[in-house]
Amino acid sequence: MKSFSILTSIFLVLISPILIHTADIDFSYTGKTGPIYWADLKGSNEICRTGKQQSPIDITHEKFNTFSKPDSVTFDDAKNVEIVNDGHTVQVSNKEQILPATMKIGNEDYELAQFHFHTPSEHLINEEYFDVEAHFVFQTKAGNLSVIGVFYDVSDEQNDFLKPIVDNLPLKKNDSHLIDFIKLSKVLQDIDYMNQTYTYPGSLTTPPCGEGVVWWVNTIVQPISLSQYRQLRHVMGFNSRFTQDIYF
Ligand SMILES: [Zn+2]
Repeated sequence: MKSFSILTSIFLVLISPILIHTADIDFSYTGKTGPIYWADLKGSNEICRTGKQQSPIDITHEKFNTFSKPDSVTFDDAKNVEIVNDGHTVQVSNKEQILPATMKIGNEDYELAQFHFHTPSEHLINEEYFDVEAHFVFQTKAGNLSVIGVFYDVSDEQNDFLKPIVDNLPLKKNDSHLIDFIKLSKVLQDIDYMNQTYTYPGSLTTPPCGEGVVWWVNTIVQPISLSQYRQLRHVMGFNSRFTQDIYF
């Protein structure tokens, strides 16, 4: 037994530097693990640097002359959802089932897997930022992704859709809370059923920056009260990737 434990100790001493080097280094939004270094954190992140369809982008009017929308889109209200602080954002999902929203693009059926927030917005419209951007992340059974982006700007109006989210914010990393009811249907009404939306082929805005994501960026900006904004911002901090070069 003794020789076994000595061998084990030697083995652990030998492999521990390897473990340190191959351990996942978490990404961040500033400093040496910030967006410009994401490709260096892990081999599978290479596309964060070399990709040609990366998100977010500055949506300039000369490239986007017409609005576009999915072939169909539905948002129903959600019950018993979970909100999680993953250290990068706060994310709402339902562990047992998919969230009650759907989208159809051509023959592909997408369902809402989760939604989360960024402060400030990741997309820009004609170089203009917004205070918050929500990402509604849809997925097909085969794993294809499509994301609806919704902007929020601080105003004197409280946002009813955001109220249960802000009231239940998990303050620390890995904290989570349950929320009984979210009026998800209001989001689609607020953005006029996606009648003023730009689409483009892009990517995830966090590592591994995978491409093939169909983006729908809504130009109807929603209100958020100063208090709601401050609470959201306090929990997430700055979590916005810089805009990427456009190759299309
Ligand atoms: Zn996002």
